[in-house]
Amino acid sequence: MDIKAIDSQYVAGTYGRLPVEIVSGKGSIVKDVNGKEYIDMGSGIGVTAFGLCDDEWVKAVSEQLSRLQHMSNLYYTEPCARLAELLCKRTGMSKVFFGNSGAEANECAIKVARKYAAEKKGDEYYKIITLQNSFHGRTLTTLAATGQDHFHRLFTPLTDGFIHVPANDIDALKACVAENKVAAIMLECVQGEGGVLPVDREFVSAAAELAEKEDILLIIDEVQTGNGRTGKLYAYMHYGVSPDVVTTAKGLGGGLPIGACLMSKKVENVLGKGDHGSTYGGNPVCSAGAVNVIERIDEALLADVEAKSKFVFDSLNGAEGVESVSGLGLMIGIKTVKPAAEVLAKCMENGVLCLTAKDKVRLLPALNIPMDVLARAIDVIKKACI
Ligand SMILES: *Cc1c(COP(=O)(O)O)cnc(C)c1O
Repeated sequence: MDIKAIDSQYVAGTYGRLPVEIVSGKGSIVKDVNGKEYIDMGSGIGVTAFGLCDDEWVKAVSEQLSRLQHMSNLYYTEPCARLAELLCKRTGMSKVFFGNSGAEANECAIKVARKYAAEKKGDEYYKIITLQNSFHGRTLTTLAATGQDHFHRLFTPLTDGFIHVPANDIDALKACVAENKVAAIMLECVQGEGGVLPVDREFVSAAAELAEKEDILLIIDEVQTGNGRTGKLYAYMHYGVSPDVVTTAKGLGGGLPIGACLMSKKVENVLGKGDHGSTYGGNPVCSAGAVNVIERIDEALLADVEAKSKFVFDSLNGAEGVESVSGLGLMIGIKTVKPAAEVLAKCMENGVLCLTAKDKVRLLPALNIPMDVLARAIDVIKKACI
């Protein structure tokens, strides 16, 4: 049997896989089992921040791999401590909890919000406001946080205590805070799975002001937008706000599973001994990969992300078959005249792998994709839109 048949028979049918088996990759080029090459415009959904098998990243990870691949959190290990220090120094946050995924980073943030509110105001203050059309993960609690009903069907009852308000509706947010016993407001600055939609500046500022005034936490979900993706280290940095909690994952490890929940001074000691944990959390190999990723996201790289972003927006805006382009940095959504799935299939046929989000074609290329490779991919995408 070939791999597609084995996979279809034995792997749980939760994914609608595309009909291609990828066997290797280097930088922004991947190869399928037949030797056909593709330009990777999806980066494993924004994970391989510096592309596939990037030399520097492989070196950092493999050196750690042959020194110590895992140790329990009963002991100190250097990569985890260094990564936490680096994240705090680069953001001004105070402490970090490490898990293994975006959903786990958000679970941690939700626990911080609940405990902070319970201690400060009483445990009836547990409501968390999130946005309609948001995405926060697949666990039963992060699904409850996710403001898209179709993910909830047949999995109820979900964790209690989440209210969804429309994005960019400041009045609705204010009313929701006034009418409920709220612990936190949690949002993505750019809704990724929701269709690559940046949230208005005024709305994010209003949420930050409201959170400050009411002593509720502002949690920014940077699982997809984080780690240089939008042209800043974290997307909230475009918005001039100082969140109480920031969660991230996807691009952080550059291709190894790691998630982080960053806590500001105000909440740095909310979680104490025994309040939370993760067997793998802060694993030395994943942490070594993440240190390499974060160290390389400097001003020069971010300027490069902005320049490539401008090139993509300029190339696609007004192109034939393109209705609109949305997003920030190298997190880009294209509303096409043709159905997104059709454009995706055409691109794949012509050697470019893209993603979709809702009705959009979504691009999340590696942050260091070479300009000529990016230009070739955009050319194929433009032709596929016609
Ligand atoms: C992908 C994503 C998650 C979930 O991350 P996992 O690593 O799949 O658990 C959460 N929030 C946002 C914004 C995401 O894009």
